[in-house]
Amino acid sequence: MQLRVYNTLTRKKEELVPIKPGQISMYTCGPTVYKYATIGNLRAYVFMDELRRVLEYDGMKVKSVMNITDVGHLVSDGDDGEDKMEKSAHETGKTPLEIAAFYTEQFMKDIDALNIKRPTVCPKATDNIPEMIEIVQSLLDKGYAYETEDGIYFSVEKFPSYGKLSGINLEEQRHGARVEVNSFKRHPIDFALWKKAQPNHLQQWDSPWGRSFPGWHIECTAMGVKYLGERFDIHTGGIDHIPIHHENEIAQGECWLGHQIVNYWMHNEFLLVDGGKMSKSLGNTYMVSDLVAKGFAPVVFRYFCLNVQYRQKINFTWEALAAAKTAYEKLCAQLVAHKNSNATTSSEVLADFKQKFEEAINDDLNIPLAIGVLWTMLKQPKSKDIYKLALQFDKVFALDFDKVKEETKPALDVPADIRELAEARFAARKAKNWAESDRLRNELAERGYAVKDTADGYELSLK
Ligand code: AMP
Ligand code: ZN
Repeated sequence: MQLRVYNTLTRKKEELVPIKPGQISMYTCGPTVYKYATIGNLRAYVFMDELRRVLEYDGMKVKSVMNITDVGHLVSDGDDGEDKMEKSAHETGKTPLEIAAFYTEQFMKDIDALNIKRPTVCPKATDNIPEMIEIVQSLLDKGYAYETEDGIYFSVEKFPSYGKLSGINLEEQRHGARVEVNSFKRHPIDFALWKKAQPNHLQQWDSPWGRSFPGWHIECTAMGVKYLGERFDIHTGGIDHIPIHHENEIAQGECWLGHQIVNYWMHNEFLLVDGGKMSKSLGNTYMVSDLVAKGFAPVVFRYFCLNVQYRQKINFTWEALAAAKTAYEKLCAQLVAHKNSNATTSSEVLADFKQKFEEAINDDLNIPLAIGVLWTMLKQPKSKDIYKLALQFDKVFALDFDKVKEETKPALDVPADIRELAEARFAARKAKNWAESDRLRNELAERGYAVKDTADGYELSLK
């Protein structure tokens, strides 16, 4: 079946036609390894993984490249401010490479825990410095870049289609109040390809421009082309990268090579927490370890992500994650029941579900719809064939359907009046109305239910 994807560049859903039939080359902006990945970052990589799995399900051979940013990447996407790797090094007393090695390992553990396939190649920026220097030199030679006191800048006015990915307009940007002013630049959104280093800057290399270090954007162009070639199929990242990082990648890459490099640009929407941005000050910057500490298996977070299409915002709350956990457990219980059955299902019925599943995943990765197809399929009379087909679907979902076991406890189907009693008891408990909470606990017990308080709520079970 032909996969259709939304291409940010053309702003429409298009058939994904690979450059080489049967093969896909894709590049994903990887993590900056100076801290743990947040669940927001990880949503981006779940999306990358779903894309790869759908392509592989469709029979494509996928080469996936994801860089590891172990140098530079300033605190903001602009060209000023402290370097994230350097900042962390100063704070911890470790070298930038020690920090990078530690967080790269942690990142790999996180993606393994979420069943995200490791990309075919994960090159490090610091291993690709000569390749970056070559591009910068070429851009200077061709007149697209200029040297200033503090670095080498790309001149956005030299690239007439600058802004084509995000639709920004250079003239508006010139007068835009939000643009940082750097006196060395010819245009406020000219960006640093290369930065000259102060003597105390920890990460610096010899270059034609003295001791210096790369700007953030150049690494993705260098590594994308090095590992995937001068033209490749797909580039992914979060939507925050559209207006600066990816716009800059397009500008420097196309001016360097003289042609388009990437055919399809695909971007995931953000994960929000409690309806807003994650922020340190609100204390809601969650990592995989926070989920595990609250009793959520990482695969439950994957299930939670899969229930929202990648171009929609996803709102993380602990209640929503608990609901995903309940649903996932129900799903597993259903799968066990099918697995244990000796009955069969007609091939027409199976083919119909398979077709619906394939239509959903190939429609710009409509995974939530595909999960809906699975749920409907599981409601069929129990049959081992249905379990086998679910296992095929799980090549895309990666939700451990092959590991479901007999002892998977079915989530309790609680009658509405019992749920009301439990909620009232929980509210009474929260209000420290102990007498009322005890009375309701007893009433639940009389009706045959035990209630146990947990870190983020309560659990009901049959007595
Ligand atoms: P960074 O390390 O900041 O470059 O982020 C790594 C990836 O995560 C990039 O593709 C970002 O666009 C993406 N990302 C960052 N925050 C979020 C979020 N809250 N939701 C989804 N994706 C995000
Ligand atoms: Zn990138």
